[in-house]
Amino acid sequence: MNRRRRIYEGKAKVLYEGPEPGTLIQHFKDDATAFNAKKHALIEGKGALNNSISEYIFQKLGEIGVPTHFIRRINMREQLIREVEIIPLEVVVRNIAAGSLATRLGLEEGMQLPRQIVEFYYKADALNDPMVSEEHITAFGWASPQEIDEIMQLALRINDFLVGLFLGIGIRLVDFKVEFGRLWDNEQQMRIVLADEISPDCCRLWDAQSSEKLDKDRFRRDMGGVLEAYQEVAKRLGVLPQNRPPKGAGPVLVASNSTNPAGKPN
Ligand code: 5GP
Repeated sequence: MNRRRRIYEGKAKVLYEGPEPGTLIQHFKDDATAFNAKKHALIEGKGALNNSISEYIFQKLGEIGVPTHFIRRINMREQLIREVEIIPLEVVVRNIAAGSLATRLGLEEGMQLPRQIVEFYYKADALNDPMVSEEHITAFGWASPQEIDEIMQLALRINDFLVGLFLGIGIRLVDFKVEFGRLWDNEQQMRIVLADEISPDCCRLWDAQSSEKLDKDRFRRDMGGVLEAYQEVAKRLGVLPQNRPPKGAGPVLVASNSTNPAGKPN
């Protein structure tokens, strides 16, 4: 029986009280949701895959100096993280037109954007996470102008790093969503750190050759093969849970499937 104190339960994760003050346990569930939880399914094994993929990415980002909430993985489904005050914004970075941007601006999915674009959405399920501007963010006090600058810089650095990381394993990073939090090192010192997760649940990842989707759009668009797509990402990163490589092993370049009939040229 689970006796730990549950702090928060979201759509794909649960946060439990951690073993020490200032820590939490982040538990990855197998639940998949879309369209503000109107669509829901259990995909057995998804939680463990996201735990592994997110652990790998957060560790790599930490190594290049991006501050994160990640401390260490505890088991197949859980990781130890620092408790932060979540800034109520979803920060989306886009490289290629897709999803809501393609719909909103009438762009063809797959079009290379003139440059990377950062967008902010207010985290509010009841409102369907509306897009907001820096004006809204500062006027309503969700983050200060300095914090917004820091968040933008971190988001772009994360994007630069991840575009390269994924290209190295034959995957195009189309777009992704990240969240940030405030971490107090002591009473006075506050840092903005990357929080939440980075996994195929919150990224668009397309095979570089075939444009096959290797992310949650497979679930959103009823394409099937969701778990297989997440497994493929984990496999290429060299972090497939049941087949964990020795510590220090890196990404594995896997030949892309260029004959996928579902893939569309870009
Ligand atoms: P879009 O705005 O095109 O729907 O999403 C842009 C990117 O952010 C996609 O990679 C999508 O997966 C991610 N994203 C946006 N909102 C959410 C959300 O509420 N949950 C998750 N998991 N990802 C999101």
